[in-house]
Amino acid sequence: MILLSRFQEIMNEVFLLLGSNEGDRLNWLQKAIELLCKNVGKVITSTSVYETAAWGLQEQQSFYNLVLKMETIQDVLQLLSSIQNIEHICGRQRTQKWGARTLDIDILYFNCDIIEKETLKVPHPFLAERRFTLVPLVAIAAEKVHPALHKTNEQLLIECSDQLPVTRIDVVLKT
Ligand code: AMP
Repeated sequence: MILLSRFQEIMNEVFLLLGSNEGDRLNWLQKAIELLCKNVGKVITSTSVYETAAWGLQEQQSFYNLVLKMETIQDVLQLLSSIQNIEHICGRQRTQKWGARTLDIDILYFNCDIIEKETLKVPHPFLAERRFTLVPLVAIAAEKVHPALHKTNEQLLIECSDQLPVTRIDVVLKT
């Protein structure tokens, strides 16, 4: 029993946003899921894939995004290092700020923690401002409360002023 409760204490619930707008986007997202399962933990729920026009720079492919709810024993800095490593494996080049990317992984939530480090801010600072984040998040965690804004994801989506259309496409990747 003691062992079990210790195990439960170190199991963290995390929500990740995956995005790709370069090359074979579905392939990059699938590869990212495989690497996350191998290196980070267990996928509890995955959304479908959502499509959003690229913004910032023109003449790019649209973005494909999805949100994963995962369990991991990694602490948040280990998790950041794991996702950066996966981005690297998937060929992510950090060049232009809003440039095309094979794979982008953001930590949206880590338990109900609020983290304000120079290299890591959780909940993700733009979470409440982007429909391409909130639309999939609401699909699997409408009632989850943002620990700093004290509103549910559903409420954040209702109040979000972002106008970009986000369209669910008929693809569910293998988890
Ligand atoms: P991006 O180019 O949007 O992928 O930003 C990557 C940088 O954002 C990394 O160097 C991270 O250290 C930093 N960062 C800060 N907060 C987060 C977060 N919640 N999730 C992922 N990266 C983050």
